[in-house]
Amino acid sequence: MNPNWKFDTLAVQAGYEPKNGEPRIAPIVQSTTYKYDDVQSVADLFDLKTPGFFYTRLANPTVDVFEKKMAALEGGVAAVALASGQSANAFALLNLAQSGDHIVAASALYGGTVSLFTNTLKKTGVSFSFVSINADEEEIRAAIKPNTKAVFVEMLANPALHVCDLEMYAKIAHEHQIPLIVDNTFPTPALCRPFEFGADIVTHSSSKYLDGHATSVGGVVVEKGTFDWTCGKFPEFTEPDASYHGLVYTRDFAAAPFSVKLRVQLVRDYGVPMMPFNAFLTNLGTETLSLRMRKHSENALALAKFLQSHPKIAWVKYPGLEGDDDYGRARKYLPRGASGVLTFGAKGGFKASEKLMNHLELAAIVVHVADARTGVLHPASMTHRQLSEKELIAAGVLPELVRLSAGLEDAEDLISDFDQALSKL
Ligand SMILES: *Cc1c(COP(=O)(O)O)cnc(C)c1O
Repeated sequence: MNPNWKFDTLAVQAGYEPKNGEPRIAPIVQSTTYKYDDVQSVADLFDLKTPGFFYTRLANPTVDVFEKKMAALEGGVAAVALASGQSANAFALLNLAQSGDHIVAASALYGGTVSLFTNTLKKTGVSFSFVSINADEEEIRAAIKPNTKAVFVEMLANPALHVCDLEMYAKIAHEHQIPLIVDNTFPTPALCRPFEFGADIVTHSSSKYLDGHATSVGGVVVEKGTFDWTCGKFPEFTEPDASYHGLVYTRDFAAAPFSVKLRVQLVRDYGVPMMPFNAFLTNLGTETLSLRMRKHSENALALAKFLQSHPKIAWVKYPGLEGDDDYGRARKYLPRGASGVLTFGAKGGFKASEKLMNHLELAAIVVHVADARTGVLHPASMTHRQLSEKELIAAGVLPELVRLSAGLEDAEDLISDFDQALSKL
């Protein structure tokens, strides 16, 4: 791989370099296990002395291609692919925080992430503080405690569509010698590369735009490779790991200690790796990522403008829309497009939004976002229904809010569909 290759070249070429006569496309290695000629080869693999494959729970050649591609696209040193975005976020945190530790998170988050933090990870003894959607430097600083191990944000929050001021968060995290973890699911590296703005770890639900065709649930954690884990706050990285004969991650795997530790501790013990067939499909999706993200963004902007001008629509939220609260940050962090998701509320509140959704013919009611096909969802009654009213408001979800994921259809057809549905209100 040529280190000077630009994004679109990496999107189709990175991660797989076939040798003479080998398949042009990275094959699906649907094998749990790998054959060796002698015992020592396998012993060396288990001791992490030589790289290679011995069991697909830990690593697989097809998944490896996708991981290498994601590391290249984000501009990081390594990546670990997981079974879902949920496991990616859970492991990104569990890799650096244990019972007694604390995480600061922005409150504009995906509903599943809120639940993961406030219910399931809380039971492991990790505590969370949430800062408000428009938190300033002082509020974020005030939330950080001596036992805080990371700051967690979504680059473009699902579904609040708040654009994170990454540089501000990165500056404050680094003042406290803790990493900034960024869920970059909605922008994808085609629209924003958080490492360029100071992030240390990037996570994705690859189920969304990376796949892009609604075929495969998956997740990935990417490591930038510059965070100093030896600063004294992360003894698990610098002290011998008894479960690996005294391996020291920052000494023995200095280039990518976070990824190695995550794989050999958390993926080894909890499981949930990405499966080879999903890696094959998701990798195929990433090949067209730039083209798709451009079109998703164009269609979302066209729909946002149409809805904004419609007399039966109360409000529209799209960071790419001039005058939007997030427009300034979108121009800075998402100059190539503000991704394919917008939200709106019909005049007449919850009932009118619901009626509009039921009258759509081309746009389908789906729980998913980021598909090639346009879809709509009502978070308050679907994805976010487990949240309390207070949590809903903190996550930026109003009762009438419809989340619209603009697909890759012709914008005129999409606008006509919304036009005819609105005419029935
Ligand atoms: C969907 C999503 C997740 C969870 O990912 P799954 O692949 O569904 O487990 C996490 N973060 C964001 C921003 C998401 O949109």
